[in-house]
Amino acid sequence: MKIKYTSASPKAGQTEHLQPNICATLIAAGFAEPCGPPPMRGTREWFAEMQELHGVPAPTPTVSWGVYIGQIAKCPAIVASCSNSNCTVKFRFEGNFARQQHPRHGEEPLHLFEKRISDAASKVVFTHSCGHKTPDKVSAAIVKQFVAAVVKNPREFTSDEAKVISFAVFKGDSGQHREVVQGVPLQRGPLAFELPE
Ligand SMILES: [Zn+2]
Repeated sequence: MKIKYTSASPKAGQTEHLQPNICATLIAAGFAEPCGPPPMRGTREWFAEMQELHGVPAPTPTVSWGVYIGQIAKCPAIVASCSNSNCTVKFRFEGNFARQQHPRHGEEPLHLFEKRISDAASKVVFTHSCGHKTPDKVSAAIVKQFVAAVVKNPREFTSDEAKVISFAVFKGDSGQHREVVQGVPLQRGPLAFELPE
């Protein structure tokens, strides 16, 4: 928390970042007043305050990547987590890959199917919530592992998913698909890493 010392204090006029309990004592004693509300956790201001308060820069986080295969549907996923314990992002990328069947040309060739998965998976990035600004890009090795896992574990639809798909492709007497309402986009401000320097 940031406080400004009042005229009663020998440090009059100065501002300082201190632990919240110390700030509360100084404010209660009339030696200081708060400088606005504390910054929100995870923002750049919060991160700067943590660094000033603890005197050490936060360690550069490392992101652990892996390919995980679901226990029930055997659906492969790229998973990632950050070494900073305050980074609460739990990352998971599944995509939705099924080998296409063409009415005349038959099954999609394996190399094209693999390329389609690889192109989509290569775009995967992990965005931190620990204050580390640069998002981490997935490695080529993980993409390769993921492609192999998807090819080895063909997508199987549950009966509920199959119902949803048949519902979506169904055309009634009108010959038109149902109108799909996608919802209202989320109104949010820029995230810390999106702000200009
Ligand atoms: Zn992180």
